Amino acid sequence: MSKGLPKRSEDYSLWYNELVKRADLAENSAVRGCMVIKPYGYSIWEKMQAELDRMFKETGHSNAYFPLFIPKSFLSKEASHVEGFAKECAVVTHYRLKNSEDGKSVIVDPEAKLEEELIVRPTSETVIWSTYKNWIQSYRDLPLLVNQWANVVRWEMRTRLFLRTTEFLWQEGHTAHATKQEAVDETVQMLNVYATFAEQFMAMPVVKGVKSANERFAGAEDTYCIEALMQDGKALQAGTSHFLGQNFAKAFDVKFASKEGGLEYVWGTSWGVSTRLMGALIMAHSDDNGLVLPPKLAPIQVVIVPIYKSDEELDKIEAKAKEIMAKLKVKGISVHFDHRDTHKPGWKFAEYELKGVPLRIAMGPRDLENNTIEVARRDTLTKETVNLSEIEIDAYVEGMLDTIQTTIYQKAFDFRAHMTTEVNSWDEFVDVLENKTGFVSAHWDGTSETEEKIKELTKATIRCIPLDQKVENGACVLTGKPSNGRVLFARAY
Ligand code: AMP
Repeated sequence: MSKGLPKRSEDYSLWYNELVKRADLAENSAVRGCMVIKPYGYSIWEKMQAELDRMFKETGHSNAYFPLFIPKSFLSKEASHVEGFAKECAVVTHYRLKNSEDGKSVIVDPEAKLEEELIVRPTSETVIWSTYKNWIQSYRDLPLLVNQWANVVRWEMRTRLFLRTTEFLWQEGHTAHATKQEAVDETVQMLNVYATFAEQFMAMPVVKGVKSANERFAGAEDTYCIEALMQDGKALQAGTSHFLGQNFAKAFDVKFASKEGGLEYVWGTSWGVSTRLMGALIMAHSDDNGLVLPPKLAPIQVVIVPIYKSDEELDKIEAKAKEIMAKLKVKGISVHFDHRDTHKPGWKFAEYELKGVPLRIAMGPRDLENNTIEVARRDTLTKETVNLSEIEIDAYVEGMLDTIQTTIYQKAFDFRAHMTTEVNSWDEFVDVLENKTGFVSAHWDGTSETEEKIKELTKATIRCIPLDQKVENGACVLTGKPSNGRVLFARAY
């Protein structure tokens, strides 16, 4: 085991990078901005995927798969879409390599130039809507509710493991509807699915809102989002759900024969969350000892560490541990017995702390004599000795995991409450951003110019116009012009 992690209070960014690497979640690769997700990190992502996938299916969606490559001409069909993504597109121009003349290297074969260049998908609206044209003819074909799990590429200049990478994994939902109302309802429904997932599974409170025009998805009429607050007081956009209007239907000529016999353009939505959620999960809860994982997403929920001197002691402990494990497994709790003799218990304790295993059970010879176990909680770092004859172990552990899940959520919730400040003047606005950070709830005059000016002066952006925004007359913090409700500002990842 290497030395301790850097402290959050000293260098948050270094703490994060080191934690991602040391907890075996991911590492940088040979390609700048692209990461290798390691097995432990991937197993957390798989748990996220499984739950989200279940929620998508429960709301009527099916999975499908569309190509990685998009003909360049497709991308330009929707004007604002191409404008938004042009700067970050990877383009395939050739399909073959050959040996250089001196035979010392391999070069792109100039003869093998593609007739039409291909874009590595930064998002799949264009390829999907070009397909939907063939799938949708009549109102009977609607709604079309499809999701895709895929990788996408956006040539990001400033990258950070999980939070912003050049290639990332995500899901993208793409739906088509007969009416505007249905499409808006779908957009909001999926935003709610994301918020539920974030709060109930990631134990991460989020603000649901709408993006200002500046931050809207390229090609959308409205972008809804969930915004979370990280422990360093910076905000993170954790998921988006877009109401696309008829923009892509018009770009790809997707019309349907309505019940009334007319021919109308289809209404669309798209929505996505990515491996950025891994970054959010880490940054929202973890501490200077390592990861703190909510039990619902922890690949290992309980670890049992034997403390022994002789093989005979180990055998006895193992027999007892197996009884406990069998009971926990019946309840669907994932439990691991670490009988490795290559590492000392103290080393193992530190490792499971680093990896965020929610509950650790230690059993030594004295525990066997007394029929006890020592239970340590990762979230609070507290320990208690439990007498097995006084409890039902399965119910006890189940209850404890629930308690940990709620405690982690409540802690993040209280932190966010403490770090959300209402301000009424420019001086206060700047003071909070400089000295306290977090979400700043302030009046804004509703213009893009003001939003840009504020960003230029403070690096803070409008994270969202909260869906539960109260009508309240006030004056814009920068311009003093009238505003009828507060929006949330923050410096963000
Ligand atoms: P968008 O298509 O831009 O609305 O993004 C969909 C989802 O992907 C959002 O939840 C973003 O937070 C996430 N996302 C966007 N860019 C990146 C990136 N470079 N790395 C990881 N996640 C990203």
